Amino acid sequence: MLIVQKYGGTSVANIDRIKAVAGRVAKTARQGHKVLVVVSAMSGETDKLINLAHQASSNPREREMDLLLSSGERVTSALTAMAVEEQGFKAMAFTGRQMGIITDTVHTKARIEKITGERAKKALDDGYVVVVAGFQGITEAEDVTTLGRGGSDLSAVAIAGALNADLCEIYTDVDGVYTTDPNIVPEARKLDKISYEEMLELASLGAKVLQTRSVEFAMKYEVPVVVRSSFNDNPGTLVTKEDEEMEKVVVSGVAYDKNQAKLTVMGVPDKPGIAARLFKGIAGSNIVVDMIVQNISSDGKSTDISFTVPKTESKKALRLTEDIARELGAGGVDLREDITKISVVGVGMRTHSGIAAQMFETLAKHGINIMTISTSEIKVSCLIDLKYTELAVRVLHEVFGLAYRIAK
Ligand code: ASP
Ligand code: MG
Repeated sequence: MLIVQKYGGTSVANIDRIKAVAGRVAKTARQGHKVLVVVSAMSGETDKLINLAHQASSNPREREMDLLLSSGERVTSALTAMAVEEQGFKAMAFTGRQMGIITDTVHTKARIEKITGERAKKALDDGYVVVVAGFQGITEAEDVTTLGRGGSDLSAVAIAGALNADLCEIYTDVDGVYTTDPNIVPEARKLDKISYEEMLELASLGAKVLQTRSVEFAMKYEVPVVVRSSFNDNPGTLVTKEDEEMEKVVVSGVAYDKNQAKLTVMGVPDKPGIAARLFKGIAGSNIVVDMIVQNISSDGKSTDISFTVPKTESKKALRLTEDIARELGAGGVDLREDITKISVVGVGMRTHSGIAAQMFETLAKHGINIMTISTSEIKVSCLIDLKYTELAVRVLHEVFGLAYRIAK
């Protein structure tokens, strides 16, 4: 088998951890598998480099930023290859460029366009363990790019897809994907298996085990991914295609996202083209809008539109929205940052009804007001007051029987 193993920042945080990683790689190689390793930078390293850049310049150019940031992963790839050699295996480290990871030109969040990987394939055939620096690629014009924060996950999944690997293991510091955040609910249960779609909802909702784009990629190319800990031998969580068994489980997880802010434009004229103008303006400055709610106008003349944006972009979005509101002849704009998006997710929702009602009822019973609701086929999300986050997560986890599913 060809196995891709990705090790995150905490798994390569120092030389001892890198030696432990090499031990695990050697163990897999000893079982007769070809192993391609993808590594992140040592934990904290990327933040440190970003910090240095901001000390050197008030507005560092993104091209140079990428060259700088890619160095963190270069360090760990070379060190890991050296440590694997110490275990008695031949090992060779590759940068993103040497791996033939070609991306578009959008610096700091580039998209992978293709992976050639010829040298790596040859090295694997020649019996080498291949260690690739994650998070980076190169444009056609040979500028170094990076793939966005957490991008080593994407490197690993994309390489696994391109090389037709049998498995892509993502090693991290938690045992896998949980029914909810174990810091809030200690009885949260580790899932043995989860579908790509559910994982996508959970990842984008702030269950930060896998980078969202890596899950999209895995789903598209059906790369089997296992999320597991590099600190023990527990089996982890398999992220894979949906099957019948998964559909029987109505709710797989409860997620929350505290990084949203809500903007409400009041007194928006109720006529065609208004929403288009508003959201075109916002999209134009690369702000990703999540939930959108437009109320029915009661007087037939004006209405309110609410939407959420990442908290980090809220000030920028507010300024922009105020400008557009003025232009449209709307009333004021209101910004709320003390909110949380709380969601229940499960592919079984496609075939079971009543989940939304049960969620609303549970929140109501605990005096938690719902500001905004949105749904998809496999998810119901509500915006609530930030201070009720923990309570809402606990009661929803409880009411959907997530901790004790087997006993029920
Ligand atoms: N080192 C990069 C980051 O911290 C990429 C990664 O770890 O996946 O975001
Ligand atoms: Mg990560």
